[in-house]
Amino acid sequence: MESKELYQCLLGLSSPWTVESVELDMAKQRVDVQVGHPAATRFACPDCGRELAVYDHQAERVWRHLDSCQFMTYLHAKPPRVECPEHGVRQARLPWAEAGSRFTHLFEVLAIEMLQAANVKRAAAILRISWDQAWHLMERAVLRGRAAKGSVVPRQIGVDEKAISKGHHYMTLVCDPEAATIEYIGEGRKEESLAAYFAAFDADQRANIEAISLDMWPAYINACRAHVPQADEKMVFDRFHIMQHVGNGVDRVRKQEHKALLGQGDDTLTGSKYLWLYNPANMPEKARERFAQIKHGHLKTGRAWALKEALRELWDYQSTGWARRFWDRWYFWATHSRLPPMIDAAKLIARHLPNVLTYFKHPITNAVAEGLNSKIAAVQKRACGFRNPDNFKIAVYFHCGGLNLFPARVTHSKVG
Ligand SMILES: [Zn+2]
Repeated sequence: MESKELYQCLLGLSSPWTVESVELDMAKQRVDVQVGHPAATRFACPDCGRELAVYDHQAERVWRHLDSCQFMTYLHAKPPRVECPEHGVRQARLPWAEAGSRFTHLFEVLAIEMLQAANVKRAAAILRISWDQAWHLMERAVLRGRAAKGSVVPRQIGVDEKAISKGHHYMTLVCDPEAATIEYIGEGRKEESLAAYFAAFDADQRANIEAISLDMWPAYINACRAHVPQADEKMVFDRFHIMQHVGNGVDRVRKQEHKALLGQGDDTLTGSKYLWLYNPANMPEKARERFAQIKHGHLKTGRAWALKEALRELWDYQSTGWARRFWDRWYFWATHSRLPPMIDAAKLIARHLPNVLTYFKHPITNAVAEGLNSKIAAVQKRACGFRNPDNFKIAVYFHCGGLNLFPARVTHSKVG
């Protein structure tokens, strides 16, 4: 088989496109494949599909293709243009690459698979492309995937904030708990950060949202009330955030008590911070023994901890009525604990109680959001930090967006 025929097969080219020449440069370790078409070929207008004679050719362009063995392989062609009576002079679609891409479809597919599996730096090194090219490729894949997905509003959504980088740069994330995907990433954690998500949908679509899981955060609450009909019946202040607020109360009690104890030369609480914050079900084996010793002492922190753990039971109830009765007992206990941080936490929850109890109508769990959070943490680690917030968005949509990232092969450009 001649090299031209070989590359015709390897590139998967079909009529009218043929390989005109193949050049191998041993020194530069590259193969350059020239591709062309017969003079009389007619091409389709990319907008309406009308078959037209070639109007002219654009200057030669080059696409990176899959390597031939270890040789980097480049495809060269002059893209033909047609003059459509309706759409004017337009470049015909090329079957091997998307408009504007510097890579062939097959190279993009490989690169996307590589970027899904390895960190950006490593994938770029294996693919022999630059860091910027790798990000650009990911961005294109995300834009393509989001365009293909179109405007779909999930039945349920979860809203959360996420700190990126070490500073206090926050992003607002909207997830679909049923599909376990990140649907939207907004700048900051203000009302408009979330409002912009809702603004992409019409009123009917927004009315179809059945439940929203979120933290007791006024900016998000306002955004939901402004954009989602009957938001007050749909918002659920989720248990993860509520337990986090109560956990913060426990931590404040511990800090105050630890300081007071140290003043008396007592270091009982030294290094105990995380023991009090664990969900007991997740406590590492080695921590259990020490925790068993200190939790039964007469510590204020122990009482605060017991309050926190008792509250978990709230979500085990089946009905709003029984949950409400449990809550009243817990609230009485907490507000009579003489532990100001716990009293504060109890009052915060009490002020928002109606939308804590909506859980019994819409039992949204945060398990998915938490799973996504650890996936995002892995993405952050893998990207070795982000140069800017756009990179964060691209990476999260790329790995957690549930998008079809692959280029669609063009099948209708062949004419003549
Ligand atoms: Zn046309």
